[in-house]
Amino acid sequence: MSQAPIPHNEQQRLAALQALELLDTPAETLFDHITALAAQICATPIALISLIDAERQWFKSRVGLDTEQTARELAFCAHAVAADAPLEVDNALEDARFRDNPLVTAAPHIRFYAGMPLHDRHGLALGTLCVIDRQPRHLDAHQRQQLQHLARLTGELFELRLQARRQAEQSAMHQAMLDNAGSAVLVLDPQGRVLRSNPEAQQLLEHSAAALSGQHMPRLLVEAGQFERLCAACANGPQSAEGRLRTRGGQSLPVRLNLSPIRAEEQALQGYLLVANDLSQRDEARLRLQRIAAQLPGMVYQYLLRADGSSCFPYASAGILDIYGCAPEEVAEDAAPALARLHPDDAPQVRAAIARSAQDLSTWHQEYRVLHPLHGPLWVEGRAAPQRLPGGDVLWHGFISDISERKRGEQLQNEFVSTVSHELRTPLTAIAGSLGLINGGALGAVPEAMRQMLEIAQSNSQRLRKLIDDLLDIDKLVAGKMRLELQPLALRALLAQALQSNQPYAEHHRVQLRLLPGADCQVLADAQRLEQVLANLLANAAKFSAAGQRVELSAAPRQGWVRISVRDHGQGIAESFQPRIFSKFAQADAGDTRQQGGTGLGLAISKELVERMGGQIGFDSTPGQGSTFWIDLPLAGGSHE
Ligand code: ADP
Repeated sequence: MSQAPIPHNEQQRLAALQALELLDTPAETLFDHITALAAQICATPIALISLIDAERQWFKSRVGLDTEQTARELAFCAHAVAADAPLEVDNALEDARFRDNPLVTAAPHIRFYAGMPLHDRHGLALGTLCVIDRQPRHLDAHQRQQLQHLARLTGELFELRLQARRQAEQSAMHQAMLDNAGSAVLVLDPQGRVLRSNPEAQQLLEHSAAALSGQHMPRLLVEAGQFERLCAACANGPQSAEGRLRTRGGQSLPVRLNLSPIRAEEQALQGYLLVANDLSQRDEARLRLQRIAAQLPGMVYQYLLRADGSSCFPYASAGILDIYGCAPEEVAEDAAPALARLHPDDAPQVRAAIARSAQDLSTWHQEYRVLHPLHGPLWVEGRAAPQRLPGGDVLWHGFISDISERKRGEQLQNEFVSTVSHELRTPLTAIAGSLGLINGGALGAVPEAMRQMLEIAQSNSQRLRKLIDDLLDIDKLVAGKMRLELQPLALRALLAQALQSNQPYAEHHRVQLRLLPGADCQVLADAQRLEQVLANLLANAAKFSAAGQRVELSAAPRQGWVRISVRDHGQGIAESFQPRIFSKFAQADAGDTRQQGGTGLGLAISKELVERMGGQIGFDSTPGQGSTFWIDLPLAGGSHE
């Protein structure tokens, strides 16, 4: 027995065979008809569609044979495939190649064999269509020709079968996509009649699949002519528009409609795909937001700064009319109409604050003026939290309110305080001066009976003067009338000086002031005002310490700036009071502070002064364990550290 050689293109052949997805699949009537026909034409008991796999021949269809497969080395068909030519063996017993083949010597006792190679569309021989008899036999020309036709037909069916499988898969996938689209989807014919719908569409329109099928799309839309318009526009590609669907119950649903033409390449229009997204929730949310926003003073908004520097208000409540004098629609794409209303003196500061907020994602908080087209100049306060979006855009969520009223109040108050202070200062100076002279004995000995009263009068007039001085300072600071002279100052000498001047006051509270050792440096500041700030911090530290405690003054130069700290071990600052401590007239506990004396203006003035010197002031405090107030000031250029 001789074995069929392995074809030269075996790898390709096997790959092609796999690709057809025929091996080990159930019988299919299509192929069984072919084998039946082949057996009938050739008048043989056996006909097979045999596929030559790597190690075996496997029968896709068989007539008159029970086995599903045999070893490849026994296969007659392997010879036909190797030669890629028809093989006819009239009597196997007379053929040296097959005489001793077990399929000949034993069941099924093959004598006659005729096989026609089966080709795929690239011409690769994959197997044969063969007929077999247990008796010797000879095919006539007619039978041979018909067998050949059937073999060709079988090869073509292999391809068609595969295409049909692919199509079935695709259609299953389309159906799955339709069913799970998450939106209502309708497939329409070119006339706009519904061919298919998915469950969402059925739910939205309150129709069953059957009831929807065949419905005319224009009748499902509330607006007459909208569908026709969209279809016409579809010539230029998919269209999107908002519209309203009519449900079976007669409701009108807001939806976003997306209509795409379905057209295979170069072919006539097959129909349309219509996707509808329910917008009723969005509309409801919008309405809810509108109602809430209408109750708020000022405007609530989203402001988008794009990576290219342009900006817009994706959302602005109707209140934007009161703030910027423009409608939400006017600034939805471009914020320019609103930004143009910023007061020219304040615009740079507002823009800089936006840039800073975008960079470090800190809350944007500004008070500035707007030139309102109807209401004239307004003072407004804005506050917004930024959010970085992918792609480098930044989106703020915030509100802006009109604070003109408050500003007017503040101005009146400032003017009042300013006037009163100026009016009071001169007579008060005279009173304090006179009392000083009297108590100093310049007018003769003070009668014992009057001494105590006069001393109380003098100390109270001094306290009043301090209050007036503080008020005038604040007034000057607020009005921008305080001129600071910044110059390089040797810091340690200045600290030593501050310590000395405040020593008497500290001693009065029986508190020890100490200057901790440290490097000297040149600080850039106004000497008199820095002394004023230090005096205030040292006085507070002494005031709020217990007798016998220490207050430490220190300075630590850093790169470019220096931190000066005043540390006490006193009562500390209650957490609830901490946020207000730098506000005007703020005192932690009125009773307690009265006892300590003071106006509640010292820290407010200190903060203003430090900030005008280009520095910062702050504190750390643990209630019950003391506080450390610090000021950071810039170093003078060229100073050593
Ligand atoms: P005052 O003239 O009342 O001291 P300040 O503005 O200097 O005004 O201080 C405001 C308030 O802050 C004080 O009344 C006190 O309640 C609190 N405070 C300031 N410094 C200290 C400190 N070192 N320890 C505890 N409380 C302090």
